[in-house]
Amino acid sequence: MSRFSGKVVIVTGSSNGIGRSAAILFAKDGAKITISGRNAERLEETKKLILSQGICPENINSVLGDITKSEDQKILIDSTLQKFGGKIDILVNNAGAAMPDTTGVSGVESDISNFERNLAVNLNSVIGLVQKAKPYLEKSKGDIVNVSSIASGPAAHVGAMYYSMAKAALDQFTRNVAIELIASGVRVNCVRPGVVTTGFMQAMGATEQASDEFYKLFGSRKDCVPAGRLGTPEDISHLILFLADRKSSFYIIGQVITIDGGSSLMNVLASSFET
Ligand code: NDP
Repeated sequence: MSRFSGKVVIVTGSSNGIGRSAAILFAKDGAKITISGRNAERLEETKKLILSQGICPENINSVLGDITKSEDQKILIDSTLQKFGGKIDILVNNAGAAMPDTTGVSGVESDISNFERNLAVNLNSVIGLVQKAKPYLEKSKGDIVNVSSIASGPAAHVGAMYYSMAKAALDQFTRNVAIELIASGVRVNCVRPGVVTTGFMQAMGATEQASDEFYKLFGSRKDCVPAGRLGTPEDISHLILFLADRKSSFYIIGQVITIDGGSSLMNVLASSFET
């Protein structure tokens, strides 16, 4: 039998990148899956990719919406319950973005409204969805996996200060809510990726060319990525599925697991002494 056979899974931000990969893997492994995002064309592409794996359309619920809006979060939950027999087993809070200041200012000079935009998508939407899914996850003894970033610290991340602060708050939300919810049988964990080749840079406003050049340069530097290549969406989604599968990871509670090819262990001072 497939690992997620009979399980109902919601993956936010599955119209691209890591979320798309996770949605495909869950569906291939037997899950009934709700996919979501704001971009209709890209969401349809995810659906097509799932269907191309031989999955039947009845196992896919596709929901367009902005995850920062409470009414869209509600639609995501309600449509999942309606389509898949009134239950939710797994919630993957993957949607996220680093939102640069629209006026081009960076660092502490950036207006507080920019912090609020970063919080809205990377933290508040997760809190809202966990609140709305909680009764159903308690009923199913379900699992939550959040998606953070190595930007969350402890190294500083001045270039995307407010994004990194929002992800740091998400890490601590994971720990707190994990301890609260395990009392009713719901597990919460979090993955913390390094640089992964996705639409992330373009969502920040980079051109396709600039995004490709960044990934090529960063991925080629062993002082940035000791593993010798950048992360792929599949590298990350395999860990998401492991943490969502309680048969494999039952005893892991409230952990924020770094998956970055070694990037966050690199130290400029130490590498400058290498011969
Ligand atoms: P992508 O830009 O490729 O995908 C992001 C997904 O999030 C898209 O499906 C996008 O959908 C969705 N999304 C963003 N904002 C909203 C919103 N307001 N409402 C609904 N959906 C939204 O990036 P990644 O796959 O890389 O990002 C996935 C997660 O991984 C994020 O949380 C990100 O912070 C994290 N991460 C990524 C890293 C990387 O290097 N790529 C590194 C570390 C962490 P749509 O555009 O259709 O709205």
